[in-house]
Amino acid sequence: MNQIKKFAVVGHPIAHSKSPMIHRLFAEQFDLQLSYEKFDFLPHQLQFKLDALREQEYAGVNITLPFKKNAFLYCNDLSAKARQTESVNTIIFKKNQIYGDTTDGIGLVNDLLLNKVKLASSNILLLGAGGAAQGVLMDLIINRPANLAVHNRTHEKAEMLVNKFKVEADNHDVGLAVFNPKADNFNFDVVINATSAGILGNELPIAINAFQSNTFYYDMTYGVETAFLREAKKCNANFSDGLGMLVCQAAESFRLWHDGLSPNRQKVIDQLKKSF
Ligand code: NDP
Repeated sequence: MNQIKKFAVVGHPIAHSKSPMIHRLFAEQFDLQLSYEKFDFLPHQLQFKLDALREQEYAGVNITLPFKKNAFLYCNDLSAKARQTESVNTIIFKKNQIYGDTTDGIGLVNDLLLNKVKLASSNILLLGAGGAAQGVLMDLIINRPANLAVHNRTHEKAEMLVNKFKVEADNHDVGLAVFNPKADNFNFDVVINATSAGILGNELPIAINAFQSNTFYYDMTYGVETAFLREAKKCNANFSDGLGMLVCQAAESFRLWHDGLSPNRQKVIDQLKKSF
């Protein structure tokens, strides 16, 4: 008899995580039996606790804040994207290897597509230069926007991020640059908020004059109405929070773990909205 496959999400804190529910809803779509738990590990415990899950024959683990960089260092086999972004959110425990991949970028792009946002040849502004911004930059580049500008409260970090991905951007004919709100014109089709401003202080990550009705505003934060999305709403622009990204990145993990099974993401986004 086949053993039920075991999965988990690991983070600190983790109590709020919707991942067990999302993977249960995906599994229901395929009549698949699986177990999916959540574990709160302290930073110094991460390595030996992951080793323990491997010994207990967990098939895979999702990694969330603040451990995506640590997980990148932990894995001994990495996807190209995990290497480029130095971030791992999906681990597969194989016989002799610990394989790490990142699905955040494709999760964002797929949710933008569900929102009918066109990325090719568009002008995109990415706000933030932390782990989330770095994690999605490569997938944005692959979708070949005409221009991809990065703005961050700490200007030097935006510069570092742009320098890190400059060669890839050039290879894809994408104009990657740092955005300076005081000197550069605001001319964007899509603005993506990858900062934690909304959670931490309910502050705007960019000046108020960066909101206009013909731009699409995407906030990776979900579960709270941020100042960023409030401004988008006020000026009658189209917008979305990051719940769909959460579901779409989970769908990619699910696909990696279950031989390419691709769940209906919109159905789960709709089911999840009812849980808030
Ligand atoms: P980090 O701590 O790595 O980075 C935080 C970023 O936010 C930095 O760029 C920081 O700027 C900026 N920031 C923080 N406070 C402010 C503020 N008051 N004004 C302007 N900028 C600010 O966090 P992550 O990058 O890992 O996560 C960012 C957000 O993305 C979180 O809210 C997280 O929940 C969300 N997220 C959502 C996902 C989803 O699936 N929907 C997936 C991953 C992340 P500075 O460098 O100046 O400090």
